[in-house]
Amino acid sequence: MPDEVIGAPGKTTIFNTIWLNERVKCDLSTELVEYLFLHEHGHASRSPTARLKFIVLTVSLASLTVGFICLTIAVGVIGVLDPIYSLVQGAIAVLIGIVFATLTGKGYLRVIRNEELHAELNVVHELGTEEFRRRHELFEETRDRGPIEVLQRRLFYPTMDMVVAASQDQ
Ligand SMILES: [Zn+2]
Repeated sequence: MPDEVIGAPGKTTIFNTIWLNERVKCDLSTELVEYLFLHEHGHASRSPTARLKFIVLTVSLASLTVGFICLTIAVGVIGVLDPIYSLVQGAIAVLIGIVFATLTGKGYLRVIRNEELHAELNVVHELGTEEFRRRHELFEETRDRGPIEVLQRRLFYPTMDMVVAASQDQ
């Protein structure tokens, strides 16, 4: 797939086909393309139930988070503008809204991170811990990411040590 179409290095579609980014594929060595493929294969080999659960959870948690944020803003504005409510009541309502938005937001991140963990665990199973570590490090060194990608990586992906620890727990 061309770079403009997929953006990310690799993607697994809901139809279980794996897309690799042509530009990234050209830039990476064969062993890193294999690493990427094994990661995506980890997503693709998930059971239909796990896949459905992932989609339902991400969509509902994301909508809930957005909903709570909007509601919090609305309540805050009403609290300030409407003389019926005291500022303290408004502040309490806003705080509750922030707590709920944070909880659903965190849940959303957790669901995605868990899915990425499964994909990475597939790499560990196929290559072994040492080889996984080596290629993961090499992959991270090779990928030259912008600040948004770096942030996405931190939020949505487990660290290498977390993956290794999880593989040893299994
Ligand atoms: Zn992934």
